[in-house]
Amino acid sequence: MRVYSVDALILRTYRYGEADRVVVFLTSDRGKKRGVAKNASKSRRRFGAALEPLTRGRVAYAEREHRDLVRIDRVEPHQTPLNATRGRESDEAAHVLTCAAYFAELLDEWAPEGQPNERLFRLGSAVGDALCHPGSVDALARYFEYWLLRLEGLYPAIDVCPACRRQTLSGGAVLVPGAWHYICDACGHGGPRLSAAAITFLRHAATRTPVEVSSASASPGVLRDLERAHHHLIALHLEKELRSTRVVKELRPSP
Ligand SMILES: [Zn+2]
Repeated sequence: MRVYSVDALILRTYRYGEADRVVVFLTSDRGKKRGVAKNASKSRRRFGAALEPLTRGRVAYAEREHRDLVRIDRVEPHQTPLNATRGRESDEAAHVLTCAAYFAELLDEWAPEGQPNERLFRLGSAVGDALCHPGSVDALARYFEYWLLRLEGLYPAIDVCPACRRQTLSGGAVLVPGAWHYICDACGHGGPRLSAAAITFLRHAATRTPVEVSSASASPGVLRDLERAHHHLIALHLEKELRSTRVVKELRPSP
C-alpha cells in the first residue's frame, strides 16, 4: 500500500453502502481519483464541509495495487465554495453553489481517470478561488467554459472567418451548428450569434485572470450569447446535455 498527500479539487461524492461515501477528486499531479471516505455519510465530523464540490485542499489517501478505489484518510480544505457565499444575498449564494457544482461536473467530464492533467487542475483551482471574489459569477462561468474548450484545443478561432477567409470576426460571428467554427454574418446565419462585445469578451478571456474577467462589467446580453454558444460546443464535445447545465438555468436569480 502506498500513502499520498496531494493538492486536489473535490469533484463529486456519492453514497457507498450504509455510511460511506465515494469521493471523486482531481489531483494536481496524478489525475482523477476515486476513493472511499469512511463514515462520511453518517457523520459529518470527520470530513465536514470539505467534500463540497469544487473544494480545493489537501487530500491524504492510501492506494493499493489493482484496486480502483483508494482509501481517503483526510481532507484538509484550503478553499471551499461555501466561503464564496459569504456576504451574498441568499438567491445569489445559491447561484454560486450551483455554479461551483457545474464547474466541478465539467471538470469531472473533462478529466480522464488516472491521467495527470495539471492545467485542468490549475484552471479549476483558479475559478474556485475567483468565486470568492466579488464579481459576476456568470462571467466567470463563460471564462471557465472558454478555457476548458481551449485547453483541449477545441475553441473555434475568433480572428478571420474560415468560410470566406476575408472578413474578420471582430464585428460579430455566428456559430455553425454541429461544427467547430464561427463564421462571419455574411457567410452564415441560424446558429448562436456572438455580438462584437462578446468577441471582445473572449479576446480578454484569452489573456486575463478569472478575477479580472469576473470584475469587468460584461452585459447580461453578452453573457447570454456566450452561454448559448458555449453550451452548444460543450454538448457537441460531450454529445449530451449536462444535467447541471439545466439546473443552472433553472436556478438563476431573476434580474
Ligand atoms: Zn465569411
